[in-house]
Amino acid sequence: MGLKGVIFDLDGTIVDVSYDWSRIRAELGTRGIPILTYLSGLKEPEKSCKWAILRRYETENTTQARLKRGMRGFLNLLSQEGVKKALVTNNSRENVEFLLQKFDLKFDCIISREGGLWKPSGAPLVDALNKLGLVKEDVAVVGDSVFDIKAGREAGIKRIFLLSREKKKFAGSGAEVFRTVRALQHRIQELWTRGGDRE
Ligand SMILES: [Mg+2]
Repeated sequence: MGLKGVIFDLDGTIVDVSYDWSRIRAELGTRGIPILTYLSGLKEPEKSCKWAILRRYETENTTQARLKRGMRGFLNLLSQEGVKKALVTNNSRENVEFLLQKFDLKFDCIISREGGLWKPSGAPLVDALNKLGLVKEDVAVVGDSVFDIKAGREAGIKRIFLLSREKKKFAGSGAEVFRTVRALQHRIQELWTRGGDRE
């Protein structure tokens, strides 16, 4: 079965960023609850105050973000092959637009947190599939964290690829882990060349 679409995460996947999530969670006092779920459950004025803290970290990381090595070539290759590209991120639309403009990148579908569907739920991925007009068997997820694995699994997507240097951390997760975009690209090319896999 061929690959017709790839659903990408943004931070740590398309771009290299240096979020210190444990520090951010500690500052927000999330007590193990995913950040967006925690923030959306707060009451004012605490809610606005803590959203501002998160936004401060996001703005800082967004302005310093760099396009991951090899990513532009990989995205271009997918376009040439007619593979659709979706971006599903818990980041804000404002930051997504800033980064896409900065690096001159285009996606067929963009789901940011304003849609109200957040990873690790599989719902934003299902939303992307619907918008692309594809089914779960057609696509692969490319991310960098356990949120991407959980969301991919919940959406029923079997091909989950991670870009990470921490292969051991994801052992037994069912995700294939690659240290570089080049290695991931190799694997994806294998998927569509092997035994007429594209068709
Ligand atoms: Mg990420």
